Amino acid sequence: MPRLDADIVIGGEGLLAAVSAAALAEEGFAVSWIGGEDPPRWGGPGPIAIAPAGRALLERYRLWPGSPPEGQAVQRMRVWDAGGRISFSAAELAVPELARIVDGVRLFECALAAARARVVAEANRIVAVEPGPDAVRLVLADGRSRLARLLLACDGADSPLRRLIGIPTLERAYGASALSFRVRSRLPHDATAFQRFLPGGPIALLPLADGASQVVWTRPEPVARALNALKPEALARAATEASEECLGALEIEGACRFLPLRMRLAEGFAAERVALLGDAAHQVHPLAGQGANLGLLDLAWLIAVLARARRRGLDLGSRAVLARYAQNRRSAAGLAALAFDGLERLFSSAEGPLVQLRRMGLSLVDRIPPLKRWLAHEAMGWSAWPAELPVSGGGP
Ligand SMILES: Cc1cc2nc3c(=O)[nH]c(=O)nc-3n(C[C@H](O)[C@H](O)[C@H](O)COP(=O)(O)OP(=O)(O)OC[C@H]3O[C@@H](n4cnc5c(N)ncnc54)[C@H](O)[C@@H]3O)c2cc1C
Repeated sequence: MPRLDADIVIGGEGLLAAVSAAALAEEGFAVSWIGGEDPPRWGGPGPIAIAPAGRALLERYRLWPGSPPEGQAVQRMRVWDAGGRISFSAAELAVPELARIVDGVRLFECALAAARARVVAEANRIVAVEPGPDAVRLVLADGRSRLARLLLACDGADSPLRRLIGIPTLERAYGASALSFRVRSRLPHDATAFQRFLPGGPIALLPLADGASQVVWTRPEPVARALNALKPEALARAATEASEECLGALEIEGACRFLPLRMRLAEGFAAERVALLGDAAHQVHPLAGQGANLGLLDLAWLIAVLARARRRGLDLGSRAVLARYAQNRRSAAGLAALAFDGLERLFSSAEGPLVQLRRMGLSLVDRIPPLKRWLAHEAMGWSAWPAELPVSGGGP
């Protein structure tokens, strides 16, 4: 067999590509990273909620930016709609925090710097994927090629690599977009994340370290466009009203980002000598702030599976090895994607039997501590954490 260029080639240039490159190299795999642009850029939202399990993975590979404490800890969460409410607190659950809101750009830059120090990276595009019995050949846009045991596709929700290898997706266009912007509020956020469900989509206020909050507001497409066209003062008034003044009057700081939403779930998370990871495998509704966290759990599983294969002397890109990753993550992330999709439907409808169910639901769950604990454990990411991957402190 011709000489391999790497054990694993990573294709893509977003957060998950950078984190995967740095972490897999740290685990001792020979990694090569083929990103589309130089320098790669962060395409995600500004601040991002990272769950404790995701943070544990980032810290394990020295990818958590700055010296602690980075970002803003979320100590409390309040969720409500017209008929009911539920609240969570770190103290009640006996955990240090529910999540941490960090600057997505800083997170990406930290992972990017580590990846560049640890792996060979090149700005190029993969235009053909040719799997063989011992290795996969990747043909690049400039006509050269690379040979590896495994290709990891981390090229985002539109994933050209997923299309190239022909993995179909389940899709649902929400017909809605998220507006994301920073606000100063009259009342202090007190380390609390707020989410109000409204017909048409939720509005969330995430606490930031400097006392401001980040609003992520989902609205049906035409309404979102109209809101996006408003002057900042008018948008601030609309957001204050939509959030039922949970933080008092809001004032907008900086620009508003407009992000169209859709659910996409790959029918399989692996093919011959290829694994999908992050949004390339699953794009979920942002209402639970879990998209990147699911990608980090994909990576935790992939590392556990590949490390075990290496200990046993198995081929890293073989069907049996990839099947373990794909089956586990397809069912866990698939369930999460469908659950968020179901929540979106449940809370978006303004009338019908779902409204009654929803009314009973929130307040009822709030009164059942074991169910609340289970929900919080799920949201913190620990239930999907692979037992073979030890983490320091906390953990499952
Ligand atoms: C409004 C909103 C709020 C969110 N909030 C949260 C949150 O609080 N917590 C959370 O966990 N998640 C959140 N998410 C989700 C999170 O942003 C994504 O899940 C995450 O960015 C996915 O990372 P990724 O690396 O898989 O994909 P991406 O970030 O999309 O990166 C993939 C990159 O690959 C590039 N690419 C495409 N084609 C090629 C090619 N041929 N070659 C090379 N590169 C290519 C793309 O341009 C892109 O830059 C939110 C999303 C939205 C829209």
